[in-house]
Amino acid sequence: MHTSRPLITIENPEWINRIALLFKKMDRSYAEASEAGEFSCTGCQENCCLSLFYHHTLLELLYLREGLNSLSEETLNTVTFRAQEAVPRLHRRAEDETLEKIPCPLMEEGQCLLYTHRPMVCRLHGVAHFLERPDGSVLKGPGCSRYEETAADNRPLNRTPLYKEMAHLEKTLRQETGFTDRLKLTIAEMILL
Ligand code: SF4
Repeated sequence: MHTSRPLITIENPEWINRIALLFKKMDRSYAEASEAGEFSCTGCQENCCLSLFYHHTLLELLYLREGLNSLSEETLNTVTFRAQEAVPRLHRRAEDETLEKIPCPLMEEGQCLLYTHRPMVCRLHGVAHFLERPDGSVLKGPGCSRYEETAADNRPLNRTPLYKEMAHLEKTLRQETGFTDRLKLTIAEMILL
């Protein structure tokens, strides 16, 4: 039986819309960059849903929980069981005690059960990108190996405006809720919280 307790309570329902709008912008930016490079993840063996990723914002946790609350009791119990199994294996993976690929608990036959509510990394991973830092330096990312090998036209995605908006919303949400904890969570840990 899934028995999560709310980390915090969000009084203002407007937050879900704000997060949804930002994620829609991310999806549009990703679509533009992947179309420019004629790039797709379809059929890729290096599926990022088998990789170890951490998520750091209350926004992403809140939105994923919104998605979890929409699942049927049966499906929620299934992903909860998978998450309980995955957490110790992910810890060993993080300590390089194993190199095994650990599927995300939300992955079902290669598809994401909460695609609409998936976090930022899941939305932006894969294409080449850059980030303009406040000090004027630029952080560049080549994209995943498949992108590097197959992308027809390397038009990197500018993560700067997306990160800026994410940081602003996160700061506002934390001020509004008084939540101050640092977050570094895998999807499995987010499910079990
Ligand atoms: S949340 Fe969805 S897209 Fe992200 S790793 Fe899990 S299954 Fe993949």
